[in-house]
Amino acid sequence: GCYGNNTPPSAPTILVGDSGVGKTSLLVQFDQGKFIPGSFSATVGIGFTNKVLTVDELKVRLQIWDTAGQERFRSVTHAYYRDAQALLLLYDITSKSSFDNTRAWLTEIHEYAQDDVVIMLLGNKSDMTSARAIRREEGEKLAREYGVIFLETSAKTGLNVDEAFMTIFLHPQIPD
Ligand code: GDP
Ligand code: MG
Repeated sequence: GCYGNNTPPSAPTILVGDSGVGKTSLLVQFDQGKFIPGSFSATVGIGFTNKVLTVDELKVRLQIWDTAGQERFRSVTHAYYRDAQALLLLYDITSKSSFDNTRAWLTEIHEYAQDDVVIMLLGNKSDMTSARAIRREEGEKLAREYGVIFLETSAKTGLNVDEAFMTIFLHPQIPD
């Protein structure tokens, strides 16, 4: 589509998933290209990062909301779901509970988000192979069941981090 030079379309994106799965680390890796070890303070609130991406000569302004302290079901403000064009739902491949909880997250997302929201299921910490608790195939199966996109990522090595955010824009449902 057509739009002014300085007004790339914006795509509100939110990161959700259990506490400790690596949401903030993933965003820092995407934004700054580095991994800062250690937990980020669980500051209650919603962190915000703005980033302009060029995908196939198309500029898109990503507004990414990183949730913290809302890591319980029914606690992310519904307005964030309603406005989101993309949702990155993370679990930790070394944590079965974080994987099991993705079903509850998906239920909540389907209840409150727009029907055409792009949902990515991300199995993070894929670098931690010796502690793996969830096989890649289990993630793929769950993603197929819910009709969402699946990737394994590592905020530590950077594996698939750019891809996770870029894929949002390769999806046809982001309006311009
Ligand atoms: P959040 O609560 O979901 O925002 O999780 P954080 O980003 O604070 O990360 C929780 C912990 O997991 C921290 O100790 C991070 O350093 C670690 N972590 C996050 N992502 C990865 C990853 O991809 N690989 C490894 N090995 N550790 C990670
Ligand atoms: Mg965090």
